[in-house]
Amino acid sequence: MTRELADQGPGTKAVWGGEDDAEEGTSQVPIVQAVAFTYRDVGRWQDVALGRRKGHIYSRNTNPTVALFEEKVRVLEGAEDATSFSSGMAAISNTLFALLRPGSRVVAAKDTYGGTNQLFREFLPALNIGVKLCETTDPSRIEREVAGGCDVLYLETPTNPTLKVLDIARLSKAAHDAGATVITDNTFATPINQRPLRLGSDLVIHSASKFLGGHADALGGVLCGPKETVRKVYHYREITGAALDPFAAYLLLRGLKTLEIRVQRQNENAMKIARHLEGHGGVAAVYYPGLRSHPQHAVAKRQMKGFGGVLSFSLKGDFRKVKRFLPKLRLAHRAANLGAVETTVGSPATTSHVEVSAKDRAAMGIPEALIRYSAGIENARDLIADLDQALAAVA
Ligand SMILES: *Cc1c(COP(=O)(O)O)cnc(C)c1O
Repeated sequence: MTRELADQGPGTKAVWGGEDDAEEGTSQVPIVQAVAFTYRDVGRWQDVALGRRKGHIYSRNTNPTVALFEEKVRVLEGAEDATSFSSGMAAISNTLFALLRPGSRVVAAKDTYGGTNQLFREFLPALNIGVKLCETTDPSRIEREVAGGCDVLYLETPTNPTLKVLDIARLSKAAHDAGATVITDNTFATPINQRPLRLGSDLVIHSASKFLGGHADALGGVLCGPKETVRKVYHYREITGAALDPFAAYLLLRGLKTLEIRVQRQNENAMKIARHLEGHGGVAAVYYPGLRSHPQHAVAKRQMKGFGGVLSFSLKGDFRKVKRFLPKLRLAHRAANLGAVETTVGSPATTSHVEVSAKDRAAMGIPEALIRYSAGIENARDLIADLDQALAAVA
């Protein structure tokens, strides 16, 4: 078991967390690209298989490279235990399916990630699991629904793509009064900016494909929380088979080492850009929790150390304006991901909410001319100049 590193900063944890588990005598974690592990001693094999002894049997269950990834995220989130998945959606779906039963009831905010929303609207109801989706910015409504019976309260903050902020401490308290388990998707904030477990959430989930890996070259997901709950979800994932690949785990681990400095720069870039765009004539609205004009700025300030690398803004105009604007940007990938070292832009109509109809997007308060902008680690003045020239070109 790793040193807890409890009194050390997140930069130190990102570099050293879990590293003393690597016993193979290499300074960098080996990529153990093997489906299975061999044993000459059958008694020992059986001990490992029965969990009486440390070791690995089959990589769908555990693998040394993958285990180190889990350990590093566990240390960063300050959790008792962690387990990993082949993607963020695998983490979310396996967790929900492992914890819920027919007749269970989930309460969630309306503004969850598109794939998560699909689980709530289509796949959970099909199993006779009740789902109540509430107005994201109405905490008393969420509290009332939770008090009316709830097994899982599902939170995601800041939300995708309009950066709404939910009060994790307040809503967790309401959920615990009702005997519910709180799950928080911390993908947008990262453990550098927000620690949901400290705020009262029971579980925290990440799409590691975003900021944790940070280089947009590997998919992955992770769940952190109390041992008993994480083991229950791990047991389910062993059987569904949504395991993280060792090579992906290696890439994610390599990315994780620079998590703090990347996120700090992305926080700074996003803040500078949000402030700049707020005063720009070509922009209708800017959505960023770090802005004083943000409706939940006070909550964000209380529960976040930094406000994250993602902001959104809407252009004056409709989707045709978006189609003209996006190709003008020189320092941005037009792609569906976020949280990478390169700036990435997208429109909810082509990325996070592509599964949602235009009518439903409007009902969710997502303007058709919205741009989601995930600031990379470039220099802010270059990104601002790039945005300015693109805005001027479509004015
Ligand atoms: C991308 C994302 C997911 C899904 O993660 P994948 O790794 O793409 O499966 C879940 N939640 C949020 C907030 C995301 O941004």
